Amino acid sequence: MGRQFFVGGNFKMNGTIKSIKEILDNLNKAKLDPNTEVVVAPPALYLLLAREHLREGLEVAAQNIFDKPSGAFTGEISADQLKDSGITWTILGHSERRVILKEDDEFVAAKTKAALDCGLGVILCCGESLEQREANKTIEVVTKQLKAVADKVKDWSKIVVAYEPIWAIGTGKVATTEQAQEVHKAIREWLAKEVSSEAAEKTRILYGGSVTEKNSGELAKQPDIDGFLVGGASLKPAFVDIINSNQA
Ligand code: PEP
Repeated sequence: MGRQFFVGGNFKMNGTIKSIKEILDNLNKAKLDPNTEVVVAPPALYLLLAREHLREGLEVAAQNIFDKPSGAFTGEISADQLKDSGITWTILGHSERRVILKEDDEFVAAKTKAALDCGLGVILCCGESLEQREANKTIEVVTKQLKAVADKVKDWSKIVVAYEPIWAIGTGKVATTEQAQEVHKAIREWLAKEVSSEAAEKTRILYGGSVTEKNSGELAKQPDIDGFLVGGASLKPAFVDIINSNQA
């Protein structure tokens, strides 16, 4: 069986009760490709609102978790608490957290393990900076980020990898289909070698970085691109077209 197409919407630190309800209403009434798995990640404050407002079949993700189940960790949210609230996914390792909040590979891996141990799905982000790409270090950087997780986690069945080149995030500078496909293929080969042939065959690898309804159709045609993690465009009505881009 082929890999189910997956589209995630990362709202980042955007939105209000009103605007988030509008985005969710738009999704609720849209005709969405039934073969595509859809997950939206609003800011933590609006997770429960999203879960209550969104129709069945569309899932909600946190944008981050902490790696401990409970305790004196002011400002943090645990995987157990998400599960308790009906939130079934979390994004982890987003480059904005790696760069701005200085999260390292080990911490991202510890959080991935904590999420999986609780039964959550994980959208695991990886990606290189422009400087690293220009130094021909893309595959090295991305596989190092993934290896930290592989050292702690053997079962990758609830992990979706999101390849997000940092230079393409929020910049309007999308990777070419060739650039994206090349890295996705390399990630799949790495999974075959370092995790298992089953993980290589079944793990969805998403592309993220300035995806819009205008470029998603071409990207979706690439053999190793199994969907998208969408930032800015997930706040707009055309997010529906991105979700449906595998139908075209
Ligand atoms: C993201 O934040 O995961 C992302 C891909 O952002 P954008 O689509 O805005 O580049």
